[in-house]
Amino acid sequence: MRIITGTISHETNVLSNIVTDMDEFRKRGVFYGDELFARFNGTKTPVGGIIDGCRCHGFELIPTVYAAATPSGTITADAFDTLLSDLLEGIRNTSDIDAVVLHLHGAGVSALYPDIEGKILEEVRKIVGNIPLACTLDFHANFTHQMVNNADLLIGYDTYPHIDGYERGVEAVNLTARMLDGTFKPTKAFRQPPMLPALQAQFTGRHPMRTVLEEAYRMEALPGVETITVAAGFPWSDIHEAGMSFVVTTHDNQALADELAQSLHDMVWHLRREFLVNPTPIREALRRIRAATHTPIVLADIGDNPGAGGPEDGTYVLQAILEAGLDGGVIAVIWDPGVVTQALGAGDGQLVDIQLGGHTDDLHGEPLAVTARVKYFSDGTFINEGPMGTGVQADMGATVVLDIGGNDVIVTSKRHQPTDLQLYKSLGIDVTSKRFVVVKSSVHFRAAHDPIAAEIIELDVPGLTSPRLAGFGLKHVRRPIFPLDAEMLGITEMKQMDQP
Ligand SMILES: [Zn+2]
Repeated sequence: MRIITGTISHETNVLSNIVTDMDEFRKRGVFYGDELFARFNGTKTPVGGIIDGCRCHGFELIPTVYAAATPSGTITADAFDTLLSDLLEGIRNTSDIDAVVLHLHGAGVSALYPDIEGKILEEVRKIVGNIPLACTLDFHANFTHQMVNNADLLIGYDTYPHIDGYERGVEAVNLTARMLDGTFKPTKAFRQPPMLPALQAQFTGRHPMRTVLEEAYRMEALPGVETITVAAGFPWSDIHEAGMSFVVTTHDNQALADELAQSLHDMVWHLRREFLVNPTPIREALRRIRAATHTPIVLADIGDNPGAGGPEDGTYVLQAILEAGLDGGVIAVIWDPGVVTQALGAGDGQLVDIQLGGHTDDLHGEPLAVTARVKYFSDGTFINEGPMGTGVQADMGATVVLDIGGNDVIVTSKRHQPTDLQLYKSLGIDVTSKRFVVVKSSVHFRAAHDPIAAEIIELDVPGLTSPRLAGFGLKHVRRPIFPLDAEMLGITEMKQMDQP
């Protein structure tokens, strides 16, 4: 059997002023043909899972294009057109295709198409006709009717932090094999409760999200149920169909799929108040660092997460730390290529006067005028030790560690969410010996940092990826939707969410 694959992956934050053009995709990686195997063979990623799944079944896997960019603003019409053409040409130029297994994100928005995955699946379907078309997707996918109607099989991650991409890739190939041998005829039900939970409420390691996943697993074990996707959605794509959704896929049993999908819909609606989040004021967090007897304390700067489209050059938290006179910490990371160049020019051990961060917009603090000592240089690459993206090479671009007020401040040339402990090891930092570490991340940092953290504190800070969704003026998402609309919960709780 001949299986064709491809990836166009982007989580679009339409409020970010970082334009997502081809250069943004090239920074993270655009690969063609067999380069895909060199990059993903042996990695614990969805594409790694698709590769191994095909190998297991003795299928020939034909790669087209793989393109992914760090979350940022709307994809330009030109970039999406280029990548879609690459994917479709790859498929058109391949003969005797038996099935398609793609990996897409699910929250991509281009200047012309609010739902790029729906567009991709529709165009692929036009070319390949009536053969199995399967796709793995991110937990943050905003599933749409266009996606569901054009694919036979959609499988999202079950985890946030995302640590099951590999397993979902293998699963997609296994179920495709059963479509090919005629033992699986997919029937799907799709439900979209009016829910737009903030990222912190989507963490699958705790209630309520864990409770919802446990129910989905119970249902997946029922006879005739093949796979269930719980997708938490991505608010900042701000498309009409943004938000939480469920896709239940059964074998030739539409009634069962409908019943289970409706049951999940009703369950999260009943639990909706438990999806409200309550981060900690920064002053309280700094007090806890001073009082701590066990370290390190991990502070999550959830307002400036590059993994959700934050610029990652926010200075708000570092400024508060310096004003409080706290030392012995690590800041991971601040994106500022200009400061990296300046530090490289000055040399190891030298003092530099810098204007650090705060360059991208006015939501994340002012540039910080400080004197820093240059401590360490790196090319910014390392191999992820996991459990997220195990085996994948990370690339932060040229990177320096600066000593600012007795803290190690990691400054990078590329935006990169700190999800892996190799990040610190590659820079000569023993993070376990530190008093505290600030991570610019919403939830993904937990996979690697939970085991080393004495305590984790989600900071109530301003920024593009703050959970205070009501303040952002989202324009296109369907209304009414929880928690944006007051009539869906109590007025008192709504006031709490509305405050800046
Ligand atoms: Zn995600």
